[in-house]
Order: sequence, then C-alpha cells, then structure tokens
Amino acid sequence: MNLADQLESFLTAESLALIRLIRTEAERLGFSLYLVGGSVRDLLLGRQINDFDLTVEGDAAHLAEAVLRKYAGKVVFHARFGTATWTLDDTTFKRLNIPLLGSSGFPPFLDFISARSETYSQPGALPTVKRSTIDDDLFRRDFSINAMAVRLDGKYWGQLHDPLGGQADLERKWIRHLHARSFVDDPTRMLRAVRYVGRFEFEIEPGTLDSINEEARDVLSRLSGERLRHEFDLIFEEPNPSALLHRLAELDLLKPIHLSLHHGNFQLPYLEILSVEFGEFTIPDIMTFKRTLGWILWLMPLSEFDVDIISKRLDFPALLTRSARAASTLLNALPSFVAWRPSQWTFYLEALPSISVYAVYLVRKEAALREYLVHWRKIKPTVTGDDLKKRGLEPGPRYSEILRQLRAAWLDGEVQNENEELRLLEKLEN
Ligand code: ATP
Ligand code: MG
Repeated sequence: MNLADQLESFLTAESLALIRLIRTEAERLGFSLYLVGGSVRDLLLGRQINDFDLTVEGDAAHLAEAVLRKYAGKVVFHARFGTATWTLDDTTFKRLNIPLLGSSGFPPFLDFISARSETYSQPGALPTVKRSTIDDDLFRRDFSINAMAVRLDGKYWGQLHDPLGGQADLERKWIRHLHARSFVDDPTRMLRAVRYVGRFEFEIEPGTLDSINEEARDVLSRLSGERLRHEFDLIFEEPNPSALLHRLAELDLLKPIHLSLHHGNFQLPYLEILSVEFGEFTIPDIMTFKRTLGWILWLMPLSEFDVDIISKRLDFPALLTRSARAASTLLNALPSFVAWRPSQWTFYLEALPSISVYAVYLVRKEAALREYLVHWRKIKPTVTGDDLKKRGLEPGPRYSEILRQLRAAWLDGEVQNENEELRLLEKLEN
C-alpha cells in the first residue's frame, strides 16, 4: 500500500517541507527513513497529524548533524537512546524558505531516532536498548496499530510497512498487543490501551484482554509514582476521562494503585464535569490545566487522609498535593459554611489554592464560591498602610488588623463608599 496521497493531505505544508529536507540528507547518508508509530495510525484513520516521529535505520545522531549543518538550529544528543533532538530557529526557517515563521502546525523541534530493539531485564524496568532494524523497532512497540511505518526515502516514498498486521486491526477496531508478556514488561501499556479504546472507540482484542491478569497487575502495583502519574495526566487530556477511569476500574487496574481509587469507593460522576465545556464560567487569572483539574476532581470525594496517601504514592508535585487536599477539605466542610458572611468566606478561601475553590464550585455550584472567585477576592479597602502612617498611627500588627476590618466591612456591605470607610477607620483608630 502506498500512502503518498495521505502524506500530502494530512501533513501541513511546513511539515512536508521539513520531511523532504530530512529525507534528502538521509538519502545522502544511505539511511532508510520512516515515519513511525501514532502518526502512521492517524494517517490511516484520516486524522490531522500534529506531532510525528521519524526513525532511521542508521545513526540518528549523524542524520541530525547533517541537518544541523545545512539548516542551522540546535541539536541535543541523547547517547543512551541513540536519539537527537533538533530545535529549529529563525535561520532554519529562512533557509527552509518558509514564509510564516513559527506558524501553527510547524513543529518547533524534531526527534531523530535510530531504529532499536528493546529488552526488559525485569518486569516493569526501563528497557535495555540496542540499535537494530525497523522491524525490531516496530516489534518493541505497544500495539499493532502503533507499530506501522511509512518509508520516506527515495523511491519508497509513501510505502506502508506493516509487518504486524496493524492495518487489519485498525479495520477491526482492535487494540492488540504484540506478544503475551507485553503488559508484564511494561504495565503502563494497559493504561495506554484503555486510552486508545476511549479515543477511537475500539475494543481490546480478546487475547490482549486475557493478558490483563494478576501478574501484570502486580507489576503495575510496583511501578514508580512518576510513571503512573504521567499515564493519568494523559488520560485527563482525553475528551472523556470519566469513561476511561470507569473502564480502568472495570478492568481492576485502579486497585493495584490504591484501594480507594476503585470505583466502589467514590463517585466518579465528579469527573464527568471534565467532559463538558466549562464555557459557562472560566476565570482568566486562574490557571486551569485540564490535567490538574482532573486530578482534583477525581480525588476530591476522598478523605484528606486518602488524598495524602495517593499523593505520596503517585509522587505529586507539592502544589498538586496541596490543591487536591484543599479541595477535599473544602468539599467536606462546605455544609457548615452556609451561614457565613462574605468576609468569612473570603478570609477562609484565600488560604486555599484558587483552582481547588474552582473545582469545588464546579461540583457543588455553591454561589458563594463563585462570588469569591469572581468578585470578593479582588475587593480591597481604599485605605492603605501608607495612609495609616500619614494619619500618625504607630506601625505594627494593628495595621493589618485595621486593614482587615476595613476589608471585611467592604465585603459585607457595611461600608459602601469612601466616606463610610473613613468613618469606620476613625472608629477603629480609637
Ligand atoms: P498519541 O496520539 O497519544 O501521542 P502516540 O501513538 O503518538 O499517541 P506516544 O505516546 O506519543 O503515542 O508514543 C509514540 C509511539 O511510541 C507509539 O505510537 C508507540 O509506537 C510507541 N510507544 C509509546 N509508549 C510505548 C510503550 N509504553 N511501549 C511500547 N511502545 C510505546
Ligand atoms: Mg504522540
């Protein structure tokens, strides 16, 4: 099968120009050059390709050097994996003669990878890699649909290389692993499988499903927190993380990570919020990365105790731990705050990360939380510390106490203009 037409319609003009120049250099060096992995899958599915992986049979570092010499930019070599990353710069764009500098759809950097084989010294370990052929390189991959290559050099331009039956599985809508020990070698592949199931509405092939067994779950339970967290980060970036987590629970893949993540113990619907548009209410000055919000929404119904254990297990960065914990605390405490005045809400909520307040609002729709995020947190007295000094007040802890009381009065509507504020200030000074 030849995919030349697909290459031309699903890659941006800039990406094509880039591939053509790399192909010329690969030909000069006598290397076969391939587009591999997810980009080939997406090409066959007729999806737009944004990031692509290039693999050569030969020394990727040589190829990167050759490209660097002709098209400038910067290259970083990664000796352990025999890969090199080429970062393009303005000179590159000029030499490429591409009018739209840094236009969208143009990758700012590119990885050059030598075809390699991988072996696992023990289950769940990082692999030992060795330079090899494209066939070996495809065989080390996760699923057949991700183990295809399109050859790009010389007369082979566009030729599909599919030794493991990826195209047939795309047609059957199957996620199929490449050998029976695949999930024991690398249990993150089980989470990847579920991600593709959700994204493409595919099924896990029956034999592959059988390999999701106790041995693989056991290796999963011992995986590093960082590797696990990364897989969930990616799940939260998918269109429907809630469905994916449900599926993971069904496959008993959450229990090995922590018992309280299993679906029996908490209400997944919280996460469905992630699948709908936030359009109704977004706050420009609060960073709401989908994955951060995903974690907070997922863990929010758990006790602070469990949130702490999971944060440790998954090696959360400090801010994420704090945000997830704060959301759990706030959600639990919310019913006891209902009679609070705006100043009480504000002083309490200010000590929490804003994204936690936002997440709890999305779940509970408590109006005070919204008022706080949109208005209250920005309300400040007009009087400042400088003013107090000018009025002859001794600097000290009394300053912040007075300013706090003025702010509370503004928040609670007890003061509505500067005259009233001044009158209150006079009272507080005595
Ligand atoms: P996405 O669209 O989610 O980026 P992708 O297929 O490009 O999907 P990547 O995670 O970017 O996935 O990885 C690129 C390729 O590397 C995959 O297509 C697959 O061939 C291979 N790969 C990635 N992770 C693994 C893994 N854990 N085990 C084996 N092969 C993997
Ligand atoms: Mg990718």
